[in-house]
Amino acid sequence: MRTRNLFIAVAIISVFAFKPTKNWFSEKHTTYTFFYTSADQKNKKEYVGVLDNGVKFVKTFFDEPFKKEFTVYVHPDRRSLDTTWQRDFKMPEFRSECWMVASGMATKLDIISPVTWDKESCEHKYSEKIKTQELINHELFHVFHGQLNASPDFSDVDNIDWFVEGLAAYASGQCDSLRMAQVKKALDENKVPTTLDKFWTGKLKYGLSGSVVKYIDVTYGRKKLRSLLGFNKKQQILKELSCSEEELLMKWKEFMLK
Ligand SMILES: [Zn+2]
Repeated sequence: MRTRNLFIAVAIISVFAFKPTKNWFSEKHTTYTFFYTSADQKNKKEYVGVLDNGVKFVKTFFDEPFKKEFTVYVHPDRRSLDTTWQRDFKMPEFRSECWMVASGMATKLDIISPVTWDKESCEHKYSEKIKTQELINHELFHVFHGQLNASPDFSDVDNIDWFVEGLAAYASGQCDSLRMAQVKKALDENKVPTTLDKFWTGKLKYGLSGSVVKYIDVTYGRKKLRSLLGFNKKQQILKELSCSEEELLMKWKEFMLK
């Protein structure tokens, strides 16, 4: 009997020892449900403020509300985010790069708690408040885009990275004058990729992809830009713009250098 009790006691201790310690709390807000752990109890109010600003910003940009409600998960550390991405993207071995801190798709936004970025990220700093707001805006544009796209989680897309990321980078405000100047310099030096498929690669990816979407927005107008959000294939986007990829890139170059 004693042995059996000891066995049960060890079993119970083991269960507690290996049980994930994270307990998610949730709070319902207009447009989204906010999930967080006890580690972020003290940051909750501030994060909700940034999210609310972002939701308003996206709605104003397209003059249209989000089509559906979504969830926001604030992860206490990178391990928690990686576990979620491994499950969501069905990639059990996936390990995120140190610059990755968030993702957005039709149903949800995942983010590592910004107060931990100094420790958990090699590129982002929580103290840079404007950049933090822009990053959250960026993910919210992905959510808005996913809710209208033929592939809501962007898993079934054909060469539209430049458009998905370019839209989020441009519309969020991340394509600042420094990034635009870097693209102009690369154009002057003939160091720009020759196909859109390569625009979301390398150090200039934000400026390259974002400036193409800026060109579309300025030239064709916001309504036309909005009409492209449903497409998950590059050819559909080009068809809607009535131009070939070569023409688009040529006109984008003129736009950037004028
Ligand atoms: Zn993105």
